[in-house]
Amino acid sequence: MPSDDFNPLRLQTRCARVQEPVNSATRPLVPPLSLGVVGVVSDLEQIDALYEGRAEGLIYARDGHAEAERFARKIASLEGAEAAWATGSGMAAEAAVFLAALSGGDHVALAEGLYGKTIRLVRDQLTRFGVSYDLFDPTHPKSLEQVLTPATKLVFVETISNPLLRVADIPGLAALTRPRGIALAVDHTFGPLLGRPLTWGADLVIHSATKLIGGHSDLTLGVVAGSRGWIDRIAPVVTTFGLSAAPMDCWLASRGLATLALRVERACANALILARRLQTHPQVRAVHYPGLESHPDHQRACTLLSGFGAMVTLDVGGRPQADHVIRRLAGRIPFAPSLGDTATTLSHPATTSHRGLRPEDWARQGIHPGLIRLSIGLEAVDDLTAELNAALDGLEAVPLPPSP
Ligand SMILES: *Cc1c(COP(=O)(O)O)cnc(C)c1O
Repeated sequence: MPSDDFNPLRLQTRCARVQEPVNSATRPLVPPLSLGVVGVVSDLEQIDALYEGRAEGLIYARDGHAEAERFARKIASLEGAEAAWATGSGMAAEAAVFLAALSGGDHVALAEGLYGKTIRLVRDQLTRFGVSYDLFDPTHPKSLEQVLTPATKLVFVETISNPLLRVADIPGLAALTRPRGIALAVDHTFGPLLGRPLTWGADLVIHSATKLIGGHSDLTLGVVAGSRGWIDRIAPVVTTFGLSAAPMDCWLASRGLATLALRVERACANALILARRLQTHPQVRAVHYPGLESHPDHQRACTLLSGFGAMVTLDVGGRPQADHVIRRLAGRIPFAPSLGDTATTLSHPATTSHRGLRPEDWARQGIHPGLIRLSIGLEAVDDLTAELNAALDGLEAVPLPPSP
């Protein structure tokens, strides 16, 4: 291919090389998204300075980039943490915490009712490396005391569990882990802004930013926050195992954070109204919501949290009833097995999040195919009420499954 008189480079070369950025005397109000993977280093003095931490800047995106840093700094500030690190998903954040905290021969205590994949991460993966685990009831610190061993290095708990929305006694658990030097990690995915686990005595707080923080079901991202010492241990695990976050997802999540407080407030307000209204519906056997006085953790939720969360779980009987309601809600409240969107969605724990668990675990945790977990969004609550009422109508005609 040719070159020109005014430009000696051939067209292939011009295609291959990066165009210089366009100059601007102003800077955009919102930092522009940079998808660049690698930095251009001026000389060997600069590369030494970058690696030795005397200069800040992009070297290679897996090891860190501006969008991950900007997002992590805001999370650290919201959680009252010294530092935070972004990861490619919520599971990547959990994996990084487990890998940083545990070695072969160590023991981890897991709260009963954790996100299904979290249990499987330990049960199916970490046990292959000689890690052992036990389950405990996060609403009764005494039950944690019973499973602690001299090998216990980590306790893992969720602020609000899925789908029964049990509120963990995190201060009570911390009173056991702190004096023993055991790390307490809290998955705070269901409770962003409703409370700060680090102030309750936790050592690490984890979010799946895929959910409420992102808020629009269009990114996959995780983050872990804690002391500088902990993040200095976790960051090399993230970068060497390749658990890092992509710039686009961080940029979108930073945009999501701008409206997080408003979204959480509205979703919690809607959820409380709906929970109260559905409680009196003749076809609903039970409503699980920490904001209701009937919920076993209502008192703890009142003392610990500034709101009761955006999740509401309905017990409609059995699988045929759940199927009936899910079909009748189609096109209005979709069956979409995630949570935290601007729009209300629903999930069916028995066939999705808790699918990988053993039936005996379900029974002990009170999970069954008649449960529908709603993730309440930002709609007008009267519209949601009307849609749910319409879907519940006629439920009495659906035959119950044979009792086990
Ligand atoms: C979704 C979720 C995770 C996992 O997060 P991903 O971003 O999907 O990897 C972990 N914990 C809880 C409570 C979740 O809801």
